[in-house]
Amino acid sequence: MKAQEALIAATRRLKEAGIEGAPGDARRLLAHALGIGPDRLTLALHDPMPEDAIGRLDLAIAAREAHQPVAQITGKRLFWGHEFRVTRDTLDPRPETEILVQVALERPFVHVLDLGTGTGCILISLLKSMPFAAGTGMDLSPAALDVARENATALGVVKRAKFQQSDWFSAVPGRFDLIVSNPPYIAQAEMDGLSRDVREWEPHSALTPGGDGLDAYRAIARGAPARLMAGGRIVLEIGPTQAAAVTDLLAEQGFEQIETRKDLDGRDRVILAHKPGK
Ligand code: GLN
Repeated sequence: MKAQEALIAATRRLKEAGIEGAPGDARRLLAHALGIGPDRLTLALHDPMPEDAIGRLDLAIAAREAHQPVAQITGKRLFWGHEFRVTRDTLDPRPETEILVQVALERPFVHVLDLGTGTGCILISLLKSMPFAAGTGMDLSPAALDVARENATALGVVKRAKFQQSDWFSAVPGRFDLIVSNPPYIAQAEMDGLSRDVREWEPHSALTPGGDGLDAYRAIARGAPARLMAGGRIVLEIGPTQAAAVTDLLAEQGFEQIETRKDLDGRDRVILAHKPGK
């Protein structure tokens, strides 16, 4: 069997399972099964499928038929131009979150704290782009911290990165001039509306804090002033309807120059604010 025929059969299976974007997913999973980058797939389509690749593709397609996200199946996701390892213990890095990285890089910083680091994609991308900075990634999940540490090592920033298991700020030492976070922000009542891919496969602790979806922002806004240096910044990802509420939470804690930034779809996506001083 040629790879081309395997691709056609895989695409059909995914379509029949009701997977949106079946053709693209089938290509990524075929490239994964062949052990090549998706950019090299077209050339490989006329070659015969090796026996072991047939088995790997079958497993991958079965996982996708069960709605497992492609990044979890391949174990990797490109974010900010870097390849991150992704597992069931981490949120799959989203392209919208690159906006947060971009906003954080608008001004230089030396010590950054990433709250709920997951794969470490935000912290590690910031350290890659800011060669003299160092940072701490915290997470409640030890399994996520293992993934983040692995990514920091693979991407060559582990000497500038510390990882700390903590409940928000409780076990995080030190002061920072930048705090970043993409916290869980989906309201409990909205969890049912998520796609099956997300709802059944991604860690709920990374998606929702329960209740109205704002509890993580409450904890972060309350704890951040004591951990920021005067004039320090906080940059947070938000859900598209949360700008006003999160602005209020930050203002109540004395933050100033609070601004909202939009994602490429024109939805509010990032809030930044400053601790007074300097
Ligand atoms: N953006 C994610 C989603 O819509 C949610 C991530 C989060 O809660 N931080 O699935």
